Amino acid sequence: MKANVLECKSVSVIYNELVALDKVSLSIKAGDFLGIVGPNGAGKSTLIKVMSGLLEPDTGNVNLSDINLRSLSRQVIARELAVVVQEENSEFGFNVEQYVALGRSPHHGGLYFEGSRDREIVLNALRRTHTERLASRDVNSLSGGERQHVRIARALAQEPNILILDEPTNHLDIFSQMNLGELLRNINMEGIAIVMVSHDINFMCQACNQLKLMSEGKIIAEGIPGEVITENSLAEAFKVKALVDINPVTKATRITPYAKI
Ligand code: ADP
Ligand code: MG
Repeated sequence: MKANVLECKSVSVIYNELVALDKVSLSIKAGDFLGIVGPNGAGKSTLIKVMSGLLEPDTGNVNLSDINLRSLSRQVIARELAVVVQEENSEFGFNVEQYVALGRSPHHGGLYFEGSRDREIVLNALRRTHTERLASRDVNSLSGGERQHVRIARALAQEPNILILDEPTNHLDIFSQMNLGELLRNINMEGIAIVMVSHDINFMCQACNQLKLMSEGKIIAEGIPGEVITENSLAEAFKVKALVDINPVTKATRITPYAKI
């Protein structure tokens, strides 16, 4: 049996009166490609923040290789775990190469001097994400799809064991979505565990090996996509009637919503 890499144990988050996460437990192991799906407001982003140490849960624990995240510094966490969140405001004034090089900072204490190994890792991250040609561009001048790839390049420069992404397909056209799906599969095959959150069920069914369906702060179904995504579970979580079948080309589970409930 593979050891748990990242584990949530009965984690709850309460904002004022609202229970955003209600005793959620899950574990991510080496090599996993886990998708978390669910409607707006289900608690997906809150779960991502808790799993990555950006938000402390009100109850329960998150453990990284059996050590509570609370007892680990941000720097130590960042060597294991890279997060690509939805919106970031820290991209101003950097060109792409400088921005990706920020991913190396968790590996340096205090002052940051870039060594030849760091540079090699940064160039490799640019190469793997097909963003080398953007190296000298201002990050703010990039298209949504380019920027998403550059954010992932920065995350790879961290050399994490786990990559966590919140709604990575937002604002991406279908070509860029396919590019991103391919990139994530390659990263996963190189041994990095991936946890991805999205409300785009068809994308998630194609990309992920395992899914968890969230509704109102709880995981209401989990397993392989074909087990989790059913007419009943979609009705319960999304309040829609949807046809669920198999995409004849990709063989992935596919949904076609056709009515509100
Ligand atoms: P999702 O990512 O699935 O759309 P979120 O985790 O962002 O859901 O939000 C879950 C619930 O918690 C929502 O009802 C949202 O309005 C609420 N919420 C999220 N962040 C905050 C916050 N900082 N303060 C108060 N309520 C919040
Ligand atoms: Mg969200």
